[in-house]
Amino acid sequence: IDQRFDSTVTTTCGYCGVGCRLEAHTRDGRVVAISPALDGPANEGHTCLKGRFAHQFGRHRQRLTTPLIREGDGFREATWDEALRRIVSELERVKSAHGPDAIAGLASSRATNEDCFAMQRLMRAAIGTNNIDNCSRVCHSPTSYAMRRSLGMSGATGSFADIDHADAAIIIGANPTEAHPVAGARIKQAALRGMKLVTIDPRRIELADYGVLHLSPRAGTNAAVMLGLQHVVARDGFVDHDFVDRRTEGYDELAELIAQYTPDEVQRITGVPAADIEAAAHIYAEAGEACVIWGLGVTEHKYGSEVVRLICNLALMTGKVGRPGSALLPMRGQNNVQGSSDVGALPDTYSGYRRVGDEEVARSFEAKWGVPLSREKGYTIPQMLDAAVDGQLKAMYIFGEDPAQTDPDTHHVVAALESLDFLVCQDIFQTETTKYADVILPAATFLEKEGTFINAERRIQLVEPVVAPPGEARTDLEILTTVSRALGHEMGYTCAEDVMDEIAALTPDFAGVTYERLGRSGLQWPVAPDGTDAPILYEEEFTLPGGKARFAPLPYLPPGSEASDEFPLVLVTGRRLMHYNAGTMTRRTANLDLFPSDVLEIHPDDAERLWISDGDLVSVRSPVGRIEIEAQVTDSIERGHVFTAFHFPEVRTNVLIGQSADVNTSCPEYKVMAVDVRPV
Ligand code: SF4
Repeated sequence: IDQRFDSTVTTTCGYCGVGCRLEAHTRDGRVVAISPALDGPANEGHTCLKGRFAHQFGRHRQRLTTPLIREGDGFREATWDEALRRIVSELERVKSAHGPDAIAGLASSRATNEDCFAMQRLMRAAIGTNNIDNCSRVCHSPTSYAMRRSLGMSGATGSFADIDHADAAIIIGANPTEAHPVAGARIKQAALRGMKLVTIDPRRIELADYGVLHLSPRAGTNAAVMLGLQHVVARDGFVDHDFVDRRTEGYDELAELIAQYTPDEVQRITGVPAADIEAAAHIYAEAGEACVIWGLGVTEHKYGSEVVRLICNLALMTGKVGRPGSALLPMRGQNNVQGSSDVGALPDTYSGYRRVGDEEVARSFEAKWGVPLSREKGYTIPQMLDAAVDGQLKAMYIFGEDPAQTDPDTHHVVAALESLDFLVCQDIFQTETTKYADVILPAATFLEKEGTFINAERRIQLVEPVVAPPGEARTDLEILTTVSRALGHEMGYTCAEDVMDEIAALTPDFAGVTYERLGRSGLQWPVAPDGTDAPILYEEEFTLPGGKARFAPLPYLPPGSEASDEFPLVLVTGRRLMHYNAGTMTRRTANLDLFPSDVLEIHPDDAERLWISDGDLVSVRSPVGRIEIEAQVTDSIERGHVFTAFHFPEVRTNVLIGQSADVNTSCPEYKVMAVDVRPV
């Protein structure tokens, strides 16, 4: 026992999808330090600077500690009874005047599975609508959509441990050293041990320095790169025909399509030298075992879901899936992006991705919850915002999310929030979104509640309460069950474990999950009734009908936004090592001192042409908005592109992003926006 601390509790990091296990140390009733758990399966004794300082935002003086009710242009403190009465009377008024579908809920990929499950039950059972979505809509919904259609399930096919066994890896549209630092370090170590690493990104990410090849395609041309790799694999005889014949469908149509994506043609589309396309394909195909790792640089595009299907094609045609060292690993952004969708905080599926229109599934939930449930799909997040502006949606309950800062086309988001008759926000701080709330409920951080998160390798891990929420703040589960009870629907949960027991009872992929079995190492779903989990998927067969994977013959199509005379540069957005998402938490820790403001990266040639020097304040204008930001001149960004993050409300980068979105999932095209940049 460390004498400096009164207690130490092992829990799971609330920031990114790596899912590091952390030791939270307390003294005098406060969390005073965090260190990595040596036996954490995803972090093996490591942590990053976000996790290490994560206790600091929890005790920040700006924490919400009492319910607030709007009064004029501001808010006044209220009791829980008063806040609940207001919520119930307004939601009942909207429901009786306009029907349940005039109300929508937004769950959070930062909240636990149990919180998200309770939130979707609140909307479906207590309100009577399937208008429930979560923020994975705006990050990895294309991954889930594509992997389910190509392979059968929504999650990574393997584990982080596969990186240790891979002879080669391709990282496309991800920057793990900044967004998933502990996984980034693992990739770096593997590369230092000899794993051949190929990085593909319009930005020269740090991992490129550890790789054997970096491809820098024009933003929005990932599909052409993937088709080019498949062309070379097929042309040079690397197709695993035995695997393709036994375990897949649709290869002939794909072979016909990829024949036209010669390296020269791909060079014309992407700007990547043909020789580099050839080399990258050979590195991947010649490796005994190889992984493909991707992030939001793949998904947040007009054809993001199609690029994920093309990534699956590459693995399938070479047979590199379903065995140690050969995995498809999407790097989930927030800690519980995987889980929030797995447990059904979605408008079209219950937990386990079973359709709301499926009679048998719907009846199983009705039997458990004792109320009739709608069979109609609800609104996605973009549809909620459009419906609010159009006057169809009258009330929203937003939990742990800040769409006014994180969603695209900020002016449209604000117009939607202002159009609502009634808005409830449940959060730990005031945010850009709470400015438009009628009632704000004070919630708990990940260090103040119990539950589970699911990391990027499908690992369900326990979250343990370390300290109590401050003041009048309550755990999210307590708030959601209380609101539901006040609306007349008793959920009957006494603790988070009760919720997981219900998820397990209703969801085949979670059938064997119990808190006792999760223990210190967690379990990777699907978990069989006897508790057996699945570090690797598809070892024997895929989970699509017939047991075979499906190739997707999808052509390259141009992005939704392209450079023009009026908007000659392409803005790419991303993350910084020191910050997380909207920055609500990291800007209230020591991370702020280490990275105090967003900056705009611009290539020296573009900067010189535009008379911009390092540190200058510049104006960035897109067809939908304008911001001012400090320039940083660097050759890490490709010519013709500029890069920034969206961690700071003072900058509000997403003012610039338009409404172009993934054609299948409505995930916004954050990664390609034509802009004009000039000195202020
Ligand atoms: Fe681990 Fe991610 Fe948390 Fe850093 S932010 S400690 S990498 S889970």
